[in-house]
Amino acid sequence: MMISDQTSGQMNHSLYLHIPFCSKRCSYCDFNTYAGITSLLPVYIDALCQEIVKVTSCTSRKYPVHTIFLGGGTPSLLSPEQCTTIISTIDRCFTLQNDHEYTLEANPDSLTLDKLMEYHRLGINRLSIGMQSALPHELALLGRLHNHHATQRSVDSARQAGFTNLNLDLIFNLPGQTLKDWQKSLDAALSLQPTHLSLYALSLEEGTLLHRQVEDGEFATPEDDTAAAMIDMAAQMLSTNGFIHYEVSNWAKADEQTDYTCRHNLQYWLNQPYFGFGAGAHGLVEETRTINEPLPARYIRRCHETEALSFPAGPACTENHVRDHLSQIEEHMILGLRLLQRGVNRDEFTRRFGNDWDAYYGDIIRQLLVKQQLIWDESSRSLRLPPKLFFVANQVLVQFLFDRD
Ligand code: SF4
Repeated sequence: MMISDQTSGQMNHSLYLHIPFCSKRCSYCDFNTYAGITSLLPVYIDALCQEIVKVTSCTSRKYPVHTIFLGGGTPSLLSPEQCTTIISTIDRCFTLQNDHEYTLEANPDSLTLDKLMEYHRLGINRLSIGMQSALPHELALLGRLHNHHATQRSVDSARQAGFTNLNLDLIFNLPGQTLKDWQKSLDAALSLQPTHLSLYALSLEEGTLLHRQVEDGEFATPEDDTAAAMIDMAAQMLSTNGFIHYEVSNWAKADEQTDYTCRHNLQYWLNQPYFGFGAGAHGLVEETRTINEPLPARYIRRCHETEALSFPAGPACTENHVRDHLSQIEEHMILGLRLLQRGVNRDEFTRRFGNDWDAYYGDIIRQLLVKQQLIWDESSRSLRLPPKLFFVANQVLVQFLFDRD
């Protein structure tokens, strides 16, 4: 897989499109998504396309795009006709690379064989399915609408429709979850033969139903030690099954012919540019960060009524600022070290930032190497996280934040 390191307008860009609609809110979810307003979907898609057109009409460049990600929310609520509208707008406004990756996030309860066949016919070539667990009581605790049978049916239908690149999302360290329970979900996921797995430790976010339930003592507080044992178990089982642990939370199948690493997410971790369209979406284009209005109704109004600001800020943009040099460096290190096999290459760092990393992080890197919290690989000239620290990666990564006081 190639990520171009050309500069600016010639560099391959990615597109993230946010679909902030769900049939029901899950008990742990704090994403920017809303239940009970799916009637707004048609007018939202219209606004989303207006945003794309208004942003890109502010530049004479037709940016090359190699990955598209429809995320949410629940993008699988979109009808094939709505996907067609989005795709034809993207086609008009960007130069899509021939081998582009096009991912759609899906929930098992909103997938049918007919819909999957249409998605595939439209060029969507990667599905990311929110399986979360195989156990009925865990799916109920998470407030999910599907059961494991629906996940199995979705995966079968996806294959029948022609999808060969399939990710499953799972959540672990749930209240009361045992290692045995976790093993059952992992076994069930592996038996579906995905090409990619994303495993996330449950994060109890304030304001969610599950947070309140744990605070009220209705469910036990998940333990960090259990989470570490679960990630160890997953790493062993997945490695035995031919998966490569390429990012802290992500595993992919790879062989000589095909690499199933998620190219879209790799764009973020490699600190490369991406447009963010839709309510609450974030973008990073020409070193400018953009953040959109999160509320769908206001987002829709702004897309209709406001002209684009100065590129790449669009009609619904509420914040935009140029990323300063130090922020670029911090993000390059923090995101890059999440890539466990690849790490951060020293020569690439120097090329990109005009100085060796010693100029910014000399003491910090030396100390982390002495404490064996980082590994220096001479053959690839890269810094990497040691496997035993994958689960507590953030404790190492925060060392790369500059003290700006
Ligand atoms: S389906 Fe996903 S985005 Fe929607 S409420 Fe559940 S966790 Fe949140």
